[in-house]
Amino acid sequence: MTYWFFENDRGPEGLLRYLTLILTTRGCSWARGKGPCLMCGYQADADPAISPEAVVAQVAGLSGQLSQAEGVKLYTSGSILDEDELPTDLRRELLARLAASPAREIVLETRADMVTQEGVAEVLAALPGKHVEFAMGLESSNDEVLAHCVHKPTRFVDVRRAAEEIRLAGAGVKLYLLLKPPFLTEGEAIDDCLASCRDAAKIADTVTINLLNVQKRTLVEKLWGRDEYRPPWLWSAVEVARECQDLPVRLLMGLAGAGSRRGAYNCRRCSKHVTRALRHAALSGDYSLPGLACGCEDEWRVYRELRD
Ligand code: SF4
Ligand SMILES: [Zn+2]
Repeated sequence: MTYWFFENDRGPEGLLRYLTLILTTRGCSWARGKGPCLMCGYQADADPAISPEAVVAQVAGLSGQLSQAEGVKLYTSGSILDEDELPTDLRRELLARLAASPAREIVLETRADMVTQEGVAEVLAALPGKHVEFAMGLESSNDEVLAHCVHKPTRFVDVRRAAEEIRLAGAGVKLYLLLKPPFLTEGEAIDDCLASCRDAAKIADTVTINLLNVQKRTLVEKLWGRDEYRPPWLWSAVEVARECQDLPVRLLMGLAGAGSRRGAYNCRRCSKHVTRALRHAALSGDYSLPGLACGCEDEWRVYRELRD
């Protein structure tokens, strides 16, 4: 299990003290069956032989941290609504622990194809008085990209249906997008992310643009190790953020690994500075990002125009 506090994470109520929990569970059933999505390193957090008692014990051991959280993001190395990963009894036990915490906002991650009216209703009934957001990995609204560049089990239509169910039940929808899946050029990745963000904004309350970072034991890591994949340029993230900032949605940015070798980067001179500017913008919600400039923008423009 991994956990961390993030001061001032931007939720529906504004800036709160968020506890992020990545529980060790059996792991994503899609990954165990058909192989993981190409960039997903959740397998490293999973333990196919873990007992239900051991899963609950992880949360029980965090009661001190839970008591200080204003918001909680609960990730289960997969999907909270997947019966194969979290049997009903186990899910109820976990939700009871969250219900007893002072956290006002709860984000729960699930695959879109696991979302049912009953499943959502059960979660909401178990968390009275909390603002609940279901987070789903859309990654791209382009089904070709989902099939061939991400190896995702779901398509845009699945996410749209799930989002409708969730909103009907009275919960919020958070969608993750992926900037630069493998096998796309820099320019294609920017165009894909812009189109996906516009589509996502029509069905979600929150959209997080994740800048792909190279996670361990993934196909992306293999490509990256052979110089066949480069994480996105930070300039690409700047362009997407500026273009999308006026969409009617709370826009967040996932900057894990940004500025490092495994994450989005520019040149040595500006990577840290541009990463800091993006982090600041993600917290404030103002993505105008004024005053950013570096000589490496010319090289990025060349990458951006490469079409083959
Ligand atoms: S991204 Fe989601 S669906 Fe894909 S392997 Fe990871 S947990 Fe499973
Ligand atoms: Zn630079």
